[in-house]
Amino acid sequence: MSRFFSSRYAELTPYVPGEQPIDQPYIKLNTNESPFPPPPGVAEALAAEADRLRLYSDTECTQLRSILSERLGVSPNELLMTNGSDEILNFAFMAFCDEQTPAIFPDITYGFYPVFAAINRIPFREIPLTADWRIDLEAFCPAEGTVFLANPNAPTGIALGRDEIERVIRANPDHVVVVDEAYVDFGAESCVPLIHQYDNLLVTQTFSKSRSMAGARLGFGVGCESLIRDLNTVKFSTNPYNVNRATQAAGIACLREDDYNMENCRRIQETRSWTAEELRKLGFRILDSWTNFLFAEHAAIDGETLYRKLKERGILIRHFSLPRIRNYNRITIGTREQMEALIRATGDILEETR
Ligand code: PMP
Repeated sequence: MSRFFSSRYAELTPYVPGEQPIDQPYIKLNTNESPFPPPPGVAEALAAEADRLRLYSDTECTQLRSILSERLGVSPNELLMTNGSDEILNFAFMAFCDEQTPAIFPDITYGFYPVFAAINRIPFREIPLTADWRIDLEAFCPAEGTVFLANPNAPTGIALGRDEIERVIRANPDHVVVVDEAYVDFGAESCVPLIHQYDNLLVTQTFSKSRSMAGARLGFGVGCESLIRDLNTVKFSTNPYNVNRATQAAGIACLREDDYNMENCRRIQETRSWTAEELRKLGFRILDSWTNFLFAEHAAIDGETLYRKLKERGILIRHFSLPRIRNYNRITIGTREQMEALIRATGDILEETR
C-alpha cells in the first residue's frame, strides 16, 4: 500500500478472479467460460466496427437494447446494458443499499457480493445455506435489506424455481430483490417475466457464459423503468461509455444468431449429465446442477490436492479456500473431449493416491 492510498480502502480485500494463465494451453475448466466460439457473425461485426473505433460508443446501446428487449419480452426502457454483469451488480449495491439498508445474501454464493458491499461501505449479512446446500428461503422472507440471490447459485449450481424466488420478492415489498441469473440459460427458470408484476425486482444476466462472450464484457439488468432509471443515474455518474463499440457490435451480431447459442447450452447440459455420471462412478459426490459447472467432492482426496494434481496435468478447475467448501471443487463443463480428458486424469490421480 502506498502512503497515498485512501484509508477508505485500506481494509479492502479484493475479489480474486479465476486464473487466466498465458504460459501454456491448459484445458480451462475453472472460470465457467463457454468452450464454443461466439456465433460466426460476431467476427464479421467486429471487423466492420474497427473503422468506427475512433468514435465514442452509443451511451444508450440503442440497437442492442432494442434487439435484446424483443427477445426478453420487455420494453427497452426496462433494460440497462453494462460492462459484464459484474458492473450492474455493483451499480445495484450502489443504488439500492446504504447504512440503513444492508445487503443480504447467502454465505456460499458469488464471491464478489461481499467485495461490492465492502467497496461501497455497505453493511451486509450472510444467511447460511442449509446443510444440503440449498438457499434457506424462510430466512429471506423477509430479509430486512436488499436481497442478492444468484439463481442458479454459484458455486453450488443449485437452482430455485421461479415460484420460490417470487415468495422472496413478495415477502420484501419495500426492498429490492436482485436475482443474478448469470447461469439461467443452462436449464433454470428466469424471473424476467415477473418484472412487470413487481417494482422491487431486478434481474441480471450476462453474455459471458451461455453466449460465449466472457472476453467482450457484456451484461445487463432487467427491471421496472424506475429501477432502471436509478441504475442509469449511477451509470452516467461513473462511466457513460461503459459498453464499448466493439462489444455493442459483437452483442448485436451474437443475438442475431441466438439459436446457435441456445443449441450450445443444450450441448453443455448433455455433457454435464455425462460428466456427472462419470465422476459419480469415480466416487465423487456431485450436487445437482442447473449451470455450466459441477460442484464436486471426493472422500479420498481433498479439494486442493485434486486441483493441484490436475493443474500439473494441464487441466484447470476452481478451488475455493472458504472453510465450508474447502473440500469441493467447481468444474466447468467444456466440450465432451475436454471432459473425457478430465475423467481420465482424475481416474489416474485417484489410482495414484490409493
Ligand atoms: N454472477 C455470477 C454468479 C457469476 O459467477 C459471475 C461470473 N464470475 C458473474 C455474475 C459475473 O459475470 P460477468 O461479469 O462476466 O457477466
